[in-house]
Amino acid sequence: MKRINDLTGAKTIAIGGHVRPDGDCVCSVMALYRYLKKEVPGAQIDVYLEEPPAVFRILDDIEVIKSEFNTNMCYDVFFALDCNEERLGDAQPIFARAHRRINIDHHISNAGCGDEHVVEPERSSTAELLYELMEPSLVDEEIAKAIYIGIAHDTGVFRFSNTSPRTMEIASELLKFGFDFSSLIEATYYEKTYLQTQILGRAILESVRFMEDRCIVSMVSRRMMEFYQVGPKDLDGIVNQLQAVKGVDCAIFMYEIGTLTYKVSMRSNGVVDVSEVALKFGGGGHVRAAGCTMNGTYHDNINNLSHEIAAQLSRARLREQV
Ligand code: 5GP
Ligand code: MN
Repeated sequence: MKRINDLTGAKTIAIGGHVRPDGDCVCSVMALYRYLKKEVPGAQIDVYLEEPPAVFRILDDIEVIKSEFNTNMCYDVFFALDCNEERLGDAQPIFARAHRRINIDHHISNAGCGDEHVVEPERSSTAELLYELMEPSLVDEEIAKAIYIGIAHDTGVFRFSNTSPRTMEIASELLKFGFDFSSLIEATYYEKTYLQTQILGRAILESVRFMEDRCIVSMVSRRMMEFYQVGPKDLDGIVNQLQAVKGVDCAIFMYEIGTLTYKVSMRSNGVVDVSEVALKFGGGGHVRAAGCTMNGTYHDNINNLSHEIAAQLSRARLREQV
């Protein structure tokens, strides 16, 4: 697929993204919604996504998102964005039923699903890839805004190594629409509530380094979340702060989602391929940012992850010696 076109005749279209949607996912879904409204006027377009973090309420039309998935609809086309089929969560059966299933993603761990897929791991974000697939004359200010915020979130505001010259060219094309990019990034990426800041502080304070200080780990329990009155969406960014510690090759952050069940986020400076580590435990992601869900005690999980990370670090050491 070179462009998102050839949708003539499609009367019902659905768009979905991954569970616990992040900035790239929410913005890609909303950008595609706006785009399809123009590309296929008159079609019914539904968006299925878990409730996005509140900061994304600044996006136009965000209220169209359906977070109730009990439908028997059999869509003409279903776009799965920023994930593979398994991570669509409750939207998975709706995707499976659709006549034409299209998958657009940039995760290296996704081999592609559905009838047609465009998976480009070298892309900074799904938003960037989506922009390349759009007919330029249909891109308007709202679409541009969503694409820009999506790219900014997945590149850590144009800072991570996934930022390419093309990413910056696209950002430059988008800025020409004249939206207030500065306050959008501030409001969706940097600004934190007081309680979010407190739990961030607590997680940093309780972090522990191990493996000759090349790894760092911290955990937030359900009791802590209750105490600070925060939910999983309030924990974004903690793992990035841990990774910023000088000398750390790999940062791990876990939060409890159920009895002996943890959601794990990992970050790396590139020495360790955390996507490979996450894949071993049924998750996935990118070389420098990945995640998975693990069962077991906190300490068992650290042990299991450490085993994989240590193997990679010793291979890296061997490479350094050659
Ligand atoms: P985060 O740590 O910010 O939740 O996720 C980092 C990256 O890994 C994101 O690109 C995210 O989509 C991916 N990721 C996180 N958790 C999982 C998971 O359980 N499975 C898969 N396949 N990818 C994940
Ligand atoms: Mn993404």
